[in-house]
Amino acid sequence: TERTFSILKPDATERNLTGAINAVIEEAGLRIVAQRRIRMSDAQAKKFYEVHAERPFYGELVSFMTSGPVVVQVLEGENAVAKYRGVMGATNPAQADEGTIRKRFAKSVGENSVHGSDSAENAAIEIKQFFDDKDIV
Ligand code: ATP
Ligand code: MG
Repeated sequence: TERTFSILKPDATERNLTGAINAVIEEAGLRIVAQRRIRMSDAQAKKFYEVHAERPFYGELVSFMTSGPVVVQVLEGENAVAKYRGVMGATNPAQADEGTIRKRFAKSVGENSVHGSDSAENAAIEIKQFFDDKDIV
C-alpha cells in the first residue's frame, strides 16, 4: 500500500465539487486518510510549486492556488500515486481521457481541479508540507 498527496484546487471548491471529486477518488479504491480545507498562503504555494519556478506559468499558478480555498488530502491504496494520476487524467483537460476528473470537471490547463503527486518520493515530501503524521489515520 502507498500514499499520495492530493489537492482539490480553487476552481473545484468554488463550484462546490468537493463531494463529486471525493466520490470518484473513493470509487477508484483510494481511501482519504487525511483531509483539511485551507486557504494556502503565498509562501506555501510558492514552496509547493518551487520545481516550476522557472516556468512561464509559475506566477499565474501561485496566484490561482491562493485565490480561494483548497482541500488538501492524503490518499492511501494499492499503487496510490499511479492510480490517482490515472483517475485525474492529463494536465490539459482537452487531452484527458473520458471519465477522468479533469475531463469531467477541469476548466483549463491551469484551472484543472486537482493536484496529485507524480512519485512516491514527492508524495512524502508534499504530505509533510501539510500534515503531521499523527493526523493521518
Ligand atoms: P499537478 O502537479 O497539479 O498534479 P500535473 O503534474 O499534471 O499537475 P505539472 O506539469 O506538474 O502538471 O504542472 C503543475 C500545474 O501547473 C498544473 O496542474 C497546472 O495547474 C499548471 N500548469 C501546467 N502547465 C500549464 C500551462 N501551460 N499553463 C498554465 N498552467 C499550467
Ligand atoms: Mg505535477
